[in-house]
Amino acid sequence: MTGTLVGPSRYPTACVGERTLLTVDFDKITSLAKRRGFVFQGSEIYGGLNGAWDFGPLGVEFLNNVKRAWWRSMTQLRDDVVGLDAAILMAPEVWRASGHVETFTDPLVACRQCKMRFRADQLDGDGSSRCPNCGGELTEPRQFDLMFKTFVGPVEADAATVYLRPETAQGIFVNFQNVQKATRRRLPFGIAQIGKTFRNEISPGNFFFRSREFEQMECEYFVSPTGAEDAYRAWIAERHHWYLDLGLKPENLRLREHQRDELSHYSAGTTDVEFRFPWGWGELEGIANRTDFDLRRHSEFSSKDLSYADEVTGERYIPYVIEPSAGATRSMLAFLCDAYDEAEVNGETRAFLRLHQSLAPYKAAVLPLSKKEPLVAVAHEIERALRPHFMITYDETQSIGKRYARQDEIGTPYCVTVDFDSLEDRAVTVRERDSMAQQRLPIADLIPALKEKLEVVSS
Ligand code: ATP
Repeated sequence: MTGTLVGPSRYPTACVGERTLLTVDFDKITSLAKRRGFVFQGSEIYGGLNGAWDFGPLGVEFLNNVKRAWWRSMTQLRDDVVGLDAAILMAPEVWRASGHVETFTDPLVACRQCKMRFRADQLDGDGSSRCPNCGGELTEPRQFDLMFKTFVGPVEADAATVYLRPETAQGIFVNFQNVQKATRRRLPFGIAQIGKTFRNEISPGNFFFRSREFEQMECEYFVSPTGAEDAYRAWIAERHHWYLDLGLKPENLRLREHQRDELSHYSAGTTDVEFRFPWGWGELEGIANRTDFDLRRHSEFSSKDLSYADEVTGERYIPYVIEPSAGATRSMLAFLCDAYDEAEVNGETRAFLRLHQSLAPYKAAVLPLSKKEPLVAVAHEIERALRPHFMITYDETQSIGKRYARQDEIGTPYCVTVDFDSLEDRAVTVRERDSMAQQRLPIADLIPALKEKLEVVSS
């Protein structure tokens, strides 16, 4: 789905002043994310840049794991999807053909009193609504261009204007023929891409749910017109399962099929995968039957024939496209919210991130019971042995209880504790995050044992 859709299908962000009981938990999640180095406000020391977020040491691992899981499910586990990494800067004609130049806008209103801006489609629709921030009078809605402009070459002139891509999909459409010819694929087949995307959103917010710079994971699946409906249904089921397989709770996930009046003009059907965020349901992904709109428009605008000839059946047609279009950063936020939990341990309320093992930033932590030699030497020896196999962390400061707590709140599934007995029996204690069960294992068996325990997504 592209941003050419303006209106009811665009999920509202919470307006200023809107607080629910659940916001309390969300505050805890956002503060944990910052405190432990998952996510920082972009340009924070300069007061921050609204809608821009920086992913810290744990955040980048987590986000990479989300992207790796998607990439694996798309390209490694399927024989009908191949990958692509297209340029962010594209010929400006691309965005005219796609319809973005004409229609990629949000209606915007401003408060005459406090000057805050809001998306008109997110306010009560009778035209009489007041500013959600101060109750002041609002201006008439005006269209607001969501594409960031920049210039190629040294001259800032109209002729040199290019856009930062507001979706990754167009890089795929313009390469359809290149990829089809290079791989000699027969339809149906898909092209998958992950990459940075930029939208000058009017009201970025809800942490990094709606950002101005974010990452998308998109697949364009090219199919014959007669096969499109079946492929559309199959992709809805497939994508729904992906989130469930990575541990999202079924009660926090739902599919929402768009009503006819919400559909963009080219879409023969769109279904959103939605997650129950602390402030309400929000879109994680849209799966759309985009008909032959994209390749037809690019054929017209580029004057290149992008039709496909099936050598077996002799048919020639412009392919239909089924598009599962997901947000990588937004999915990460959903996994983060879903995994956040609190439990009482020894009379103390503690935070846990019950992340799926394949998404957890660290797979295991190596913890010597004391900072003394020769314990530390053995612990380092184990750490060095594990590192080539898993993403590992090492921690020797403070009590073991505190260190377990620190690993639990960043989602590390296993802690490997080296104690004084380890020096004698060459064994360690392996503690599991969720059950807190402990098991004594010989150091020599540690790598195969952890490999068996971890359902690590291989890269
Ligand atoms: P929304 O209604 O939330 O603005 P959209 O319908 O415009 O989203 P699409 O154009 O379908 O979104 O983009 C596909 C996916 O990209 C979305 O499902 C979402 O996960 C992600 N996405 C879109 N806009 C943003 C944003 N501003 N910040 C983070 N992720 C985004």
